[in-house]
Amino acid sequence: MTPTELAALHEAHASDPHAFWLEQARRLDWERVPERSGDTSFDRSDFHIRWYEDGSLNLSANCLDRHLPERANDTALVFEPDEPGAGRSVTYAELHDLTCRLANLLKERGVAKGDRVMIYMPMVPEAAAAMLACARIGAVHSVVFGGFSPESLAGRIDDCGARVVVTADEGVRGGKRIPLKANVDAACDLSGAIDTIIVVTRTGGEVTMREGRDLRWEDHCERLSSDCPAEPMAAEDPLFILYTSGSTGKPKGVVHTTGGYAVWVATTFEWVFDPRPGDLYWCTADIGWITGHSYTLYGPLMTGTPTVMFDGVPTYPDASRLWETIDRLGVTILYTAPTAIRALMREGDEPVRKHRRDSLRLLGTVGEPINPEAWRWYHDVVGDGRRAIVDTWWQTETGGVLMTPLPGATSMKPGSATRPLPGIEPLLVDAEGREIRGNDVSGNLCLRGSWPGQMRTVWGDPQRFIDTYFATYPGLYFTGDGCRRDEDGDYWITGRVDDVINVSGHRIGTAEVESALVAHPLVAEAAVVGAPHDLKGQGIHAFVTLNAGEEGGEHIVRELHAEVRKHIGALAIPERIQFARGLPKTRSGKIMRRILRKIAEGQLDQLGDTSTLADPGVVDALVRDR
Ligand code: ATP
Ligand code: MG
Repeated sequence: MTPTELAALHEAHASDPHAFWLEQARRLDWERVPERSGDTSFDRSDFHIRWYEDGSLNLSANCLDRHLPERANDTALVFEPDEPGAGRSVTYAELHDLTCRLANLLKERGVAKGDRVMIYMPMVPEAAAAMLACARIGAVHSVVFGGFSPESLAGRIDDCGARVVVTADEGVRGGKRIPLKANVDAACDLSGAIDTIIVVTRTGGEVTMREGRDLRWEDHCERLSSDCPAEPMAAEDPLFILYTSGSTGKPKGVVHTTGGYAVWVATTFEWVFDPRPGDLYWCTADIGWITGHSYTLYGPLMTGTPTVMFDGVPTYPDASRLWETIDRLGVTILYTAPTAIRALMREGDEPVRKHRRDSLRLLGTVGEPINPEAWRWYHDVVGDGRRAIVDTWWQTETGGVLMTPLPGATSMKPGSATRPLPGIEPLLVDAEGREIRGNDVSGNLCLRGSWPGQMRTVWGDPQRFIDTYFATYPGLYFTGDGCRRDEDGDYWITGRVDDVINVSGHRIGTAEVESALVAHPLVAEAAVVGAPHDLKGQGIHAFVTLNAGEEGGEHIVRELHAEVRKHIGALAIPERIQFARGLPKTRSGKIMRRILRKIAEGQLDQLGDTSTLADPGVVDALVRDR
């Protein structure tokens, strides 16, 4: 995008928002084209969020059927399994066929419009088809990441009242098998509501099948009709429920509806990634996360951009997996997370440099603030210093990207998500709810007004939705993130507001201190939290993971103090630096500071819900070494 084009979009929104939003909706095929745009009120007495209310459409038709006349035999997705090179491409016609058959099986099992369907699968083409099949018949999908335990799955099944689960026999990640079907069985023992389990074969591993409840996909696929008309859905009919990643507490069942979500995802996909003929786009996110919904699957499919479905991990079989795969497949756009970038940076430049990566033209990051050090490595080593990076800030709740630099139009700054997209109005507020104007200021990040991709409610608990997001600052959506607007007006996410540390009255963002620590060449990753301090109110406790093969010690501690002094100032020097083999992370790879805070405070009996942790063993080690 050029600066002029971007300015024109901002101008179009400012002068006539209604026309602007209807214009964005034209990207899609509507059954009934909407004449209304947004109708929202955040007033407690009359709370509602509606977009394109008079329109109807089907998202699966927008992902599949719309491509059939012109490019039925083009690649819709490229399946890249754990085993490098053992994948295959799937065309729009094939994905359409698979989706229709699966939709017909769901119908046979009594699934109707509005019913919830659980998807607990590896990143195989059938998982994409399962989501599209639900969208096709108007069932509400709820994807649960295949790394979650039976208890977590059962909790989500109960919360949304699903009767059907689509799963696979086993998953394979990093060379290890994951007993998906056995986990579903265990979840059913805990929850009891499931009457149908559809099992796709991934490994052929042995599973128990219960007569009457469990169906092998392969036993039915052939006989099912490959024709299933797409159900016209009202724009405000729910499309999916997705539970947040649980970095800050019990996951919330975020509800997105059909029309607004589809418009926002298609629009942002085009603005941010600027897809072109010949692109092969690769977002490494699992469909268990919002990024996987919006930007591994729906965004690329709606816009006709071939998308890679990756069922592995960036470090398997070795640290060059991403770069080897990029060269082999000819990937042009890579979208991944800071956690992966830091993990790969730890292994040095050689695994990257030994691959050419000359097909790449654009890099993206999402999920956490990216430390400037990791940004530079991504830019200089992976991007050879010449590829743009889109640092996209958004949330499960926002449906799609809200802030990011746009290549060609916005200048990049390492670690900053820079500017809002057209139609998005961020503002910073202080603890009393007053807007903080001007530049070079920090505060709590809120959004004024609505956008089509905004979540509509928390499943089964509309009050929790209002209380969580609209009660702190009446009339505004509160993101929960702390943020700085720098002297140029660019935005920097400084961490969760709950994680902001107050040292002697100075508010210090976790992201800033962590970035200073990661700037040390031996540090792979860092997480900081506040712990009570007699004089300062709060002191900083830092957990630091060093590069492969390095040992922590007094001299490194001194050097780390120096880094913090240089980047922020002496007041942010940690009281305590604890070296750690690993940090507690959610299964999407985000650091869980909530648990680290309890460890730093010594409240070991109050670690809270750890069920969303990727590796609970990490916590035991941290507690032992504290
Ligand atoms: P929960 O809401 O359950 O605590 P979560 O907030 O981690 O979990 P997500 O919706 O997956 O769930 O993550 C959104 C959050 O991730 C944002 O609020 C922000 O804190 C962080 N984030 C995402 N992208 C970026 C980015 N580019 N820069 C900075 N922070 C980001
Ligand atoms: Mg959140």
